[in-house]
Amino acid sequence: MKLSFHGAARSVTGSRHIVETPGCRLLLDCGLFQGRREEALRQNQDLGFDQKSIRAVLLSHAHIDHSGALPVLPKHGFSGKVYLTRATADLTELMLEDSARVQVNDCSYVNKKEQRRGKTCVRPLYNTDDVRKLVRRFEGSRYGDLLKIAPRVTASFHDAGHILGSAAIRVKYTARGNTTTVLFSGDLGRSNMPILRDPEPPLPCDVLILESTYGDRLHEADREIMKQQALDLLIHAKTHKSKIIVPAFAVGRTQDLVMRIKELVSEGRLDPIPIYIDSPLASRVTEVFRRHPECYDEETTRTFTSSGDLFASRYIHFVSSPEDSKRLNSIKGPCVIISASGMCEGGRVVHHLKHAIQDEANVIVFVGFQAEHTLGRKLVEGWDVVPIFGVPTPRRAQIVKFNGLSAHADRNDLLAYVRAINPLPAKIFIVHGEEKQALSLAAAIQGEHSKIEVAVPHVGSSHEV
Ligand SMILES: [Zn+2]
Repeated sequence: MKLSFHGAARSVTGSRHIVETPGCRLLLDCGLFQGRREEALRQNQDLGFDQKSIRAVLLSHAHIDHSGALPVLPKHGFSGKVYLTRATADLTELMLEDSARVQVNDCSYVNKKEQRRGKTCVRPLYNTDDVRKLVRRFEGSRYGDLLKIAPRVTASFHDAGHILGSAAIRVKYTARGNTTTVLFSGDLGRSNMPILRDPEPPLPCDVLILESTYGDRLHEADREIMKQQALDLLIHAKTHKSKIIVPAFAVGRTQDLVMRIKELVSEGRLDPIPIYIDSPLASRVTEVFRRHPECYDEETTRTFTSSGDLFASRYIHFVSSPEDSKRLNSIKGPCVIISASGMCEGGRVVHHLKHAIQDEANVIVFVGFQAEHTLGRKLVEGWDVVPIFGVPTPRRAQIVKFNGLSAHADRNDLLAYVRAINPLPAKIFIVHGEEKQALSLAAAIQGEHSKIEVAVPHVGSSHEV
């Protein structure tokens, strides 16, 4: 068996790994690179491997850095199936349609400006037609189902507790009485997060491909501390009549935030302030949540059964039309605007930032990981002037980081995940983390388990296992 890594290797975006057995090449995830505009475009146009030779794709979850380059595959001759959980199938369809729309809109916006400067046009990677063609290849399955992918190759999905439908993927190859098992963690979630069940303990494997987004960091674990931080922020917004802009993944963090604020209001600790969920995806994503109660934890199942809608409230407004979104630019605070994309590399949030960033009363709250070279990363790093649609813009709004809401396992969770594999794997590849995080986690695992061979692969590298 051979493994090769074509993205999210010593970086966090563009998750693409290939498992190769004699006669069968499987692609684990096919994510979008995010970062410097030109470099990302190049890496998303050329996926770095022969797409015709891929027999099937196994998708860990719907986040765009794992799924966002899927519609590029059929354009280059891929004709196989895409295996995924049923909730991931529904979410991914929405995510990719939205990604196509955002790309088309952003390209036309940028092109208008570039043409004035006499520069060449940019083109979207794919449009909604390409997404429709891809979705026909989806093969949704339940957690735990044993899927026959090819002769001698099976696969199964196991709840990763990261977002709705997320899974670790186990691939088994059997030849001449010998079995080799590869477990790909996908993105791992955390215990006690809202809505979702805790990640399933890992099953035995020979080779583990492990994410390391927070490979050298620990999260603030205390739920009460996180709620107090949110409360302080909302009180600040009330006092200063400010806007709180939250760039967030439309799936996962947005729903968690709304659940937390609803808790604060229902406990009587906060008077409601208007919350605008400005993402055309949000109400459709809520529909997907309704269709997949098989992914809920017990508490959510109870709430869902009694109220019928996890997210509705008189102060929560779902914003769909572009006109209503533009109207938010001129409204006065206090209010919270939750909008995509999470890393501020496109979508409506960039327009909200443009209008709110120069007022020092406003606050920009980051709840997810910000990849290198994204606008989100520059803001988190405290840059005083940031490029917004290519225009250098002074930043006066406060920046707040909220790591406690992360949907990713932290260093201790990742180490515990490895420890739980019985018997331990012979080899671990650390992926989906910037170099520093990946190397730090690799050293910690190696220190604990001297017999395991731990590697941090480079993009384009391949390894016999
Ligand atoms: Zn993810």
